[in-house]
Amino acid sequence: MDERALARALSGHHYIGGRFVPARSGKTFAVVNPATGETIAEAAEGDAADVDAAVEVAAAAQKDWAKLPARKRGALVAQCAAVLTQHSEELARLIALETGKALRTESRVEAGVVADIFAFYGGLGSELKGESVPFAPDVLSVTVREPLGVVGAIIPWNVPLLLMALKVAPALVAGNTVVVKSAEEAPLTVLRLCELLGRVLPAGAFNMLSGFGPECGGPLVAHRKVRKVTFTGSVEVGRIVSKAAAEKLIPVTLELGGKSPMIVFADCDFEKTVMGAITSMRFTRQGQSCTAASRIYVERPIYDRFVAALAEKVDAMVMGDPLDEKTDIGTIISPDQFAKVQGFIEEGLKTKGATGRACSAMPKDAALKKGLFIQPHIFTGLPNDSRLVQEEIFGPVTVVFPFDNPDEVLAAANDSDYGLAASVWTNNLKIGLKFAHALEAGLVQVNQNLVVQANLSYGGVKSSGLGKEASLEAMLEHFMHKKTIMVNYQ
Ligand code: NAD
Repeated sequence: MDERALARALSGHHYIGGRFVPARSGKTFAVVNPATGETIAEAAEGDAADVDAAVEVAAAAQKDWAKLPARKRGALVAQCAAVLTQHSEELARLIALETGKALRTESRVEAGVVADIFAFYGGLGSELKGESVPFAPDVLSVTVREPLGVVGAIIPWNVPLLLMALKVAPALVAGNTVVVKSAEEAPLTVLRLCELLGRVLPAGAFNMLSGFGPECGGPLVAHRKVRKVTFTGSVEVGRIVSKAAAEKLIPVTLELGGKSPMIVFADCDFEKTVMGAITSMRFTRQGQSCTAASRIYVERPIYDRFVAALAEKVDAMVMGDPLDEKTDIGTIISPDQFAKVQGFIEEGLKTKGATGRACSAMPKDAALKKGLFIQPHIFTGLPNDSRLVQEEIFGPVTVVFPFDNPDEVLAAANDSDYGLAASVWTNNLKIGLKFAHALEAGLVQVNQNLVVQANLSYGGVKSSGLGKEASLEAMLEHFMHKKTIMVNYQ
């Protein structure tokens, strides 16, 4: 089945208790291909009644799931990795169709990483250990780790499979069951993933609802039987989710936005660093990345050369049909996001003293004329208080500044409410290490820019989030609680 037929086949469903079911209300909403404007499927429009059905099923399934030996749960999660690997290309094509992310540069990478996350967590079933704590003679004191119960997971559209996997795989191995609320812009690929996981996992262990934030995500967070919420999305919605979780006094993990600085010293490996700027900015994902290097600071001696080389490289990138193997850059996700990014660009272009260089050519194909394509823009000369410098744009827009000394650039890089990621590019190890420690971010990379790794802790500080994802610790600390048991055998 090709991706269009698959999208149609997935139409109109939630995934509850191992079955595809329509919304209780019968309502649906359109899923649109952002490259053409065509409706490719209808998604079930979930509300509080669907949430209740899914959470009840998950709560009932959790009792048996938690009774399975942890290694057995891990083995089942690892088996999911094998199924996902077999279906990786199909998932990649579906991501490209519904999100507009280019198949070769982005969607295939995402589909590949997902299997790896399931494989990694699948191997950790025997690591859910507590400790023994000496307390008094004739008293055995130990801690054991227990699952939390039903986990509510809310995800965005920019890397839907990857972000869902980072929540679902550790939550399941830990002995929880899960209800996911997909993003309204990208419900199809995660729904297909449900069907694939359902070939391995018991019914009810894993459930998914599509729908809008306040109507479907809100009731999920508020549901009495949801004992933990894990959320990835904007700071604004993160605050709403966090407040609702606080009302219920349940733990919440928040992975939010970013405005990540990239600091380039004159002694860097020039070519590697320019390519690093391209990948750090994720122009191939149209800048729709929370860790995108959206503020680039370049030491003055190489500033002009760097800006020119960056623009030249972005110019050479091909914008076009996301499913075409030649395409590097696809589309913006939705008309709303498109208008928001255009607004930032127009504001930047009107700013006195600033220059905005549009790069890469718009696609010429007539079939794409309604597509949400935006030329990447590189801005220079913006004042520090410009919205383009301070706010997350989530589009292919980067701002570049010159700097003259390390203290000045460190202060500028940290002068942000965000603290998700940062990178430093230099051949001076002392400077690299100093910055690695001094930058206020959850992830700092020196001379490289890799995406999330399943075994490495990931998450922001400041307004970029609360708690960690990925790694063994994320599973133990965010999807389990520690119970103390004391046995007096005097
Ligand atoms: P968003 O906050 O608008 O939506 C995220 C999810 O929250 C969606 O599923 C949405 O339906 C749901 N939602 C909206 N209102 C809600 C409410 N009142 N109650 C419960 N759920 C609600 O974000 P988005 O536009 O989908 O994604 C882009 C944002 O995500 C960016 O800010 C980006 O930086 C961030 N993001 C962060 C990370 C990270 O790891 N830190 C990764 C990817 C994206």
